Amino acid sequence: MSDQTQQAAGETETHSFEAEVSRLLHLMVHAVYSNKDIFLRELISNAADACEKLRHEALTNSDLIKDDPDFKITLSSDGEAGTLTVCDNGIGMSKAELIDNLGTIAKSGTRAFLDQLANNSNGDDGSALIGQFGIGFYSAFMVADKVEVVSRRAGDSEAWSWVSDGHGSYELSPAADEDALPRGTKIVMYLKDEEKSFADAVSIRRIVRDYSSHVPVPIQLMQMDE
Ligand code: ADP
Ligand code: MG
Repeated sequence: MSDQTQQAAGETETHSFEAEVSRLLHLMVHAVYSNKDIFLRELISNAADACEKLRHEALTNSDLIKDDPDFKITLSSDGEAGTLTVCDNGIGMSKAELIDNLGTIAKSGTRAFLDQLANNSNGDDGSALIGQFGIGFYSAFMVADKVEVVSRRAGDSEAWSWVSDGHGSYELSPAADEDALPRGTKIVMYLKDEEKSFADAVSIRRIVRDYSSHVPVPIQLMQMDE
C-alpha cells in the first residue's frame, strides 16, 4: 500500500508508489527495449480480464450488466493531441482497488521480473528481460509520459481518476460523471513525442492483429485518422 498520502487541493490525493513500482517505472520510462508494441497487448489483456471478471460476477448478480450486456474493448486515438485510449466495460476498479492494483506490485510475474533484474550482473538495464515477462499495466509508461485511468466499478455510483507521469507518485481524485464510463475503465496514454506513431490507426491495427487476435472480447477501433 502507498504510505505517504497527502491531501492536496480539493479532493485530489497524492500517493507515492511502492518502492518496487518506482523501480519498475523508472525502467519503463527509460526503456530502450525495441519492442514497445507489447504495452497495447498488456492493456488489452487487462481489459479482457476485466470483462471476464464481470461476466463471472454477473452470473449471480445480473443487474450489474443489465444496462449494457455486451462486453467490448474500444480503442481510439487522437493524432493531434497525441493520445491513445483503451476503454472496456468490464468490472472497473473502486478507489481502493486503484490504489492496490496500480500502486503496488501484487502480482508474481512482475516480482519475478524484478528478482531476475536484481540477479542480473552483466550491466544490462533490464530491457532484454522486458519481453520475457508480462510487465502488465506499467508498460504503458514505455510509450506515454502521462497516463490517466478513469474507472467506475460495476454497480458503483462514484468513479475515480488516477493520473501519473510515472515519477514516484500518482494522483487520485473523484471523476466527474461525464468523464467516466457508465462502468469499467478508460486508460488514456499521452504519448511521448518520439512515440506519437502509436496514435496512427495503421500501427494500432497491426499491433492488435499481431498480438491480440485471440482475445475473447470484441475489440472496436474508433475515431481513427487514416
Ligand atoms: P496482471 O494483469 O498480471 O494482474 P497488471 O499490471 O497488468 O497485472 O494489472 C494489475 C491489476 O490492475 C490487474 O490484476 C487488475 O486487478 C487491475 N487492472 C488493470 N487494468 C484493469 C482494467 N482495465 N479493469 C479492471 N482492472 C484492471
Ligand atoms: Mg495484465
